[in-house]
Amino acid sequence: MRTARRTHSFTESVIRGMTRLAMEHDAINLAQGFPNFPAPDVLKEAAVRAIRDDINQYAVTWGAPRLRRALAQKYHEWYGMEVDPEAELTVCCGATEAMVSTLMAIVDPGDQVVVFEPFYENYGPDAILCGADPVFFPMDLGESLDLERLAGVVSDRTRAIIVNTPNNPTGHVFSRVELEGIAGLCRRHDAYVVTDEIYEHIAYDGPHIPVATLPDMRDRAITISGASKTFGVTGWRIGTIVAPADVTNAIRKVHDFLTVGAPAPLQEAVAVALEELGPEYYADLATAYRGRRDRVYSGLVEAGFRCEPPGGAYYILADFSDVSGLPDDEFATWLTAEIGVASVPGSSFYSQSAEGQGRSMVRFAFCKTDDLLDEAVSRLQRIRAEAVG
Ligand code: GLN
Repeated sequence: MRTARRTHSFTESVIRGMTRLAMEHDAINLAQGFPNFPAPDVLKEAAVRAIRDDINQYAVTWGAPRLRRALAQKYHEWYGMEVDPEAELTVCCGATEAMVSTLMAIVDPGDQVVVFEPFYENYGPDAILCGADPVFFPMDLGESLDLERLAGVVSDRTRAIIVNTPNNPTGHVFSRVELEGIAGLCRRHDAYVVTDEIYEHIAYDGPHIPVATLPDMRDRAITISGASKTFGVTGWRIGTIVAPADVTNAIRKVHDFLTVGAPAPLQEAVAVALEELGPEYYADLATAYRGRRDRVYSGLVEAGFRCEPPGGAYYILADFSDVSGLPDDEFATWLTAEIGVASVPGSSFYSQSAEGQGRSMVRFAFCKTDDLLDEAVSRLQRIRAEAVG
């Protein structure tokens, strides 16, 4: 049997693998980031209604008109962006498909795509799947982006810079200065910024800034988001892309041939949620996540981890070298099997070229109810007594 060469250059998802390990050991899953709390009633009722109303067939391939209209309205309310729902919006099967479809639409084989490291593990394979050369740009944890160093890496071979803000796994929320620096380089080298803004409503220390709102960036910013994190429905697979009309045309072709479309009744339900949930929903979401963050952060520090409270998203990347000398994958396996808490090994957020990076870190997701987080934190306090290696 032969498989295609491009699949040889990356491994299977470590994040999804840790979920399987957590299930095997009946551990609390703080590995893959998905909520265990219910979605808003308005969303669920709308989904039930859509199915009862027999919205069962393919939606328009690039998105149900009602959802695209609701999204355009929201982008206007949230960020003052004018988005044409007919020409500049595409609904995909999750932000994951949105990223692959976007890269396939804009990148030619051999083009460079800049990825800030540590990075959400999909971006490396995404770049490889579309034949690009990923260029990993290291960002020191807790430090802001070194724009001068970045200028030395971005060139006319750069087709796109991928920005994930708020960031998974670091929690970094890119500042206006950082984003303007990136935007300037893209303008200079005729490149796109592809921003994964899926955690846009989970920011603690300041407003989320879409790159598309920066001066002269509307034509080179491709804004990816979705319902997964904002409405706690990661399994619904509703992702969204705002892009200039010519780019949207190209993205829609890729999206159509890859998937035909995202689930029709669920698109209706997300449209209803966007129409009916007001600013208090989004404010409450961020407040609730801040509480979860503080709970887990102090629990981790108490258990002997070194970490910083994230500025956004729902992960904490924690250094465990004060409690164990094991490498990250062995520590994460031990933690799952013996302590009953699953995390993601830190090295999975680094490229192979960054040999040794992330080996003393694991990532915890805190998108869980307080009772589960408290139980996880209490289990983690046993680490020092039981740690090996
Ligand atoms: N973004 C989430 C994480 O990093 C979920 C990943 C996934 O499996 N799609 O855990």
